[in-house]
Amino acid sequence: MHKYGDCSFCGGEVREDKVEMDYRYQGRLFIFQNVPAGVCQQCGEKYLIATVAKEIEHRIQTKEKWDKIISVPVDVLPERMAV
Ligand SMILES: [Zn+2]
Repeated sequence: MHKYGDCSFCGGEVREDKVEMDYRYQGRLFIFQNVPAGVCQQCGEKYLIATVAKEIEHRIQTKEKWDKIISVPVDVLPERMAV
């Protein structure tokens, strides 16, 4: 099991868990499930170690049939919402 440092956002404890992860690669969005990642127990920030990130990119490049394809709703907020 990988030893994670404290969360770089809030300083909380980061523990390994199996998570669902959004992964953007060359402008496309992929979702991976059952990903071993560090999860901050305070703010929920997820941390991927390099070997897992590499494996994910390898799978994106080589996978021919995906387990599931979902459609994702997209909303562009109007300008008046901007701060
Ligand atoms: Zn945190």
